[in-house]
Amino acid sequence: MTTAPGPYLADLASFITASPSSFHAAREAAARLIAAGFTELSESAEWSQDAGRFFVVRDGAIIAWVRAHGTPPAAPFRIIGAHTDSPGFKLKPKPTTSAHGWLQAGVEVYGGPLLNSWLDRELEFAGRLVTRDGEQHLVRTGPFLRFPQLAVHLDRGVNDGLRLDPQSHMNPVFGLGDASSADLVGHLASLAGIEAADVAGYDISVADTAAPAVFGLDGAFFAAGRMDNLVSVHAGLAAIVAAPDGAGHVSVFAAFDHEEVGSSTRSGAGGPFLADVLTRIAADATESERLRGLADSWCFSSDAGHSVHPNYAERHDPANRPVMGRGPLLKINANQRYATDAMGAAEWARACRQAGVAYQEFVSNNTVPCGSTIGPITATRLGIRTVDIGVPLLSMHSARELCAVGDPAALAGALTAFLSPRP
Ligand code: ZN
Repeated sequence: MTTAPGPYLADLASFITASPSSFHAAREAAARLIAAGFTELSESAEWSQDAGRFFVVRDGAIIAWVRAHGTPPAAPFRIIGAHTDSPGFKLKPKPTTSAHGWLQAGVEVYGGPLLNSWLDRELEFAGRLVTRDGEQHLVRTGPFLRFPQLAVHLDRGVNDGLRLDPQSHMNPVFGLGDASSADLVGHLASLAGIEAADVAGYDISVADTAAPAVFGLDGAFFAAGRMDNLVSVHAGLAAIVAAPDGAGHVSVFAAFDHEEVGSSTRSGAGGPFLADVLTRIAADATESERLRGLADSWCFSSDAGHSVHPNYAERHDPANRPVMGRGPLLKINANQRYATDAMGAAEWARACRQAGVAYQEFVSNNTVPCGSTIGPITATRLGIRTVDIGVPLLSMHSARELCAVGDPAALAGALTAFLSPRP
């Protein structure tokens, strides 16, 4: 499957726009799965169905699967993993402050954002409010706040090196006035259609509001916020929706929360979510059958990677400098920051060959260690063979990242082939 970039990218843009927080991403994924014929299950309920197309949402994470009628209990899993969260900021308790006639919000840095990229943008608050009855209410403000940069006239040395203190300089403004006459949480509550007094807790992120755009000569580039890692979530959704019934394996798509802060949470890849769901999918399997199935299973861990930057090519390995537009990446690291090994490389090559997709290899320069992904975590937790892959970006962890127009659809093609029967 190779989809034309135009319609695919337009759909990716609408997915990113609908997903300003991990909770919105999980809900948007759920809505798309329902539209494609999947049924939502509750983790609290008995799962009586043993075959069909299902999904379950756990906070900002979602797992969907396709299991055909007559699938043997020891059938292997083919799993696509990704993450719904992106680095940025989260709203602190007692968030409404004021100084010198400005209304400001108290925010906490989430993960490792490029702080400078968040300056001078119209941003929004997005996430969930939880009321005293335990109900969750998604909310987003649209353009609402900004981190204004100090003018160059008041900071003459700024172009020799911008220094941003995350506590004293990263307090966004959202209005004029005094904190005693403003109530940020009350504003969020009114947008959600609930009483401010009923709000008992919240998980609210800051997100860029600029629309995704295609630009450059011949429309070479695609820019948007949160491409790490909504490009992979969107591609994984495309693959699970297209997953055939009678493939001989159980197809699974898992999008976790909290990858940007280490994954060690209830809804993160370090938690039990995937293991719990896999156990319940094949609830009638004996322990031996379950382990036989896992032994033959595969996981493609899809996350954003680095294209070579033309101004900083020396930061890459001299022989392995992937260029955006030449296909998704196979990510390799000797120290197992990525889970790929030779068996995984072969499985990825097979999927790309089946999809007619070119791919490139990424490995770090020894003086510039790479980040990590959910891949090694998933492999360690479940013992499933795992390979790390993803689309090459520039400006990773910027408020607005950059990729080539053709790579997201190529990734979706490879992931779709991975869930298809071998030819
Ligand atoms: Zn990522």
